[in-house]
Amino acid sequence: SLEARGVRMSYGSVEVLRGADLTAAAGEAVCIIGPSGSGKSTLLRCLNGLETRSAGDILLDGEDTAAMDINVLRQRVGMVFQHFNLFPHKTALQNITLALRNVKKMSQEQAVGIARRRLREVGLSDRGDHRPGQLSGGQQQRVAIARALAMEPQVMLFDEVTSALDPELVKGVLQLMADLAGAGMTMVVVTHEMGFARQVADTVVFMDAGVVVESGPPEQIFEAPQSPRLKKFLSQVL
Ligand code: ATP
Ligand code: MG
Repeated sequence: SLEARGVRMSYGSVEVLRGADLTAAAGEAVCIIGPSGSGKSTLLRCLNGLETRSAGDILLDGEDTAAMDINVLRQRVGMVFQHFNLFPHKTALQNITLALRNVKKMSQEQAVGIARRRLREVGLSDRGDHRPGQLSGGQQQRVAIARALAMEPQVMLFDEVTSALDPELVKGVLQLMADLAGAGMTMVVVTHEMGFARQVADTVVFMDAGVVVESGPPEQIFEAPQSPRLKKFLSQVL
């Protein structure tokens, strides 16, 4: 499980997280929705230690992440971004083996074996030798997901991973994420895809202005929203 309690975080004098709470139980898919600038990305970045919170606790299986080695934390909590962040001069296979070699200190042979298996899982067995520029956006994003999965994280964080994709490529990546959720991966997904949140999430979390305003099962959030802010947000996006 991954749990944030009262997380606060400021950029300079501007507090962008003002006591955010979130729980992803083991095997649960949590979707975070909310307006632009509400702190969704910042909260995800705090969850895997890319940003340092100024207050609050983040617990991974009950263990305080503040006390963890940052590399261990990032290995246990994987993250995939909107803009893939693949190394452009390396092949799909090399993008995956690099972290296995450097972080997990695996042999080349072992790393290649794992990378091939992960590429197969995301439907890219035949693209291992292609560089990112030779792949479609959707394929690049699947390589990025395969790379994160190769580290065998306990939790996966996704930050609007389909937002930069051409519309016809969105579906395949969402299906891959739905399959992961179905296979029991614990995940926290920031998304503008309300259909995905409705169908795949166990819990939907609505953030606004640096706090979680409302959370609950999708049917409650989408069919019976309580707070005026969530009602207004849904009226704008649905
Ligand atoms: P979006 O839906 O547009 O991605 P978000 O909910 O992910 O928005 P964040 O990126 O977490 O929002 O940003 C929260 C607030 O923090 C915004 O007001 C943003 O301008 C500010 N912010 C984000 N990153 C930085 C930064 N590196 N320096 C200063 N301010 C930042
Ligand atoms: Mg964001």
